[in-house]
Amino acid sequence: MKPFFVFRGDDLLLIDNEAARLPEVGEVDDLKPFFLDSRCPDREGFHWAEVSPEAEAPPGMAFVPRRSLWGRLDERLFALSGKVFHLMDWHRTNRYCGRCGSPLSDHPDEKALLCGKCGHVLFPVIAPAVIVAVEREGKLLLGRSPHFPPGRYSVLAGFVETGESLEMTIAREIREEVGIEVCDFTYFGSQPWPFPRSLMLGFRARWKSGDIAIDGREIVDARWFAPEEMPDFPPSFSISRRLIDDFLQRHRNGRGLP
Ligand SMILES: [Zn+2]
Repeated sequence: MKPFFVFRGDDLLLIDNEAARLPEVGEVDDLKPFFLDSRCPDREGFHWAEVSPEAEAPPGMAFVPRRSLWGRLDERLFALSGKVFHLMDWHRTNRYCGRCGSPLSDHPDEKALLCGKCGHVLFPVIAPAVIVAVEREGKLLLGRSPHFPPGRYSVLAGFVETGESLEMTIAREIREEVGIEVCDFTYFGSQPWPFPRSLMLGFRARWKSGDIAIDGREIVDARWFAPEEMPDFPPSFSISRRLIDDFLQRHRNGRGLP
């Protein structure tokens, strides 16, 4: 089976929305007049297209937000749809050379775009971000972003800025968002996060000093939660959920930070 990833904006086309099945090559011919760009296959063997905003899903199909496919597509296909979206988004946002303004084309040897006029080479942009589970005396720091569904809390995250080590980003983000100092960072794991082009790097950390003082902009509430008083938190698949599950499991087993 060769899935055909058809994107309209940030939404993905499904055939049979109930079963969350992707269409296959040959099943989306009705949409071809609406293709803005397509690669079939692209240099990595994926079939994808972006359609214009006025394109309607063919009968029996639907365009659905990618985030809603979390837990509906199997983990491998969800990750793959994110990777293909990242590549599609990279193409649609980099049609011209940023140095001389000429059209870009595929590089013959690299997974990159090339300017035939000035030789500028452009690789896909990946934006690293840290996500941090901070603990204090058996409690976990969780915060609420204004974009979260009502009642939802999660571990804190932020983008790496130019010139920063990951350790510097962790210290700055936690300080800026909730006003506390942290220490004893340990690496936990990572996850590509194609919304639209991040790589999340997960860490555990320990509270060092300070009381919670939210910034009121990126974080509208933050508290220390004991394992038995957890609020609503993100669904599975995400590294934020894996960090929270790790905290809960260690405390169920009577173990603190490693
Ligand atoms: Zn150029």
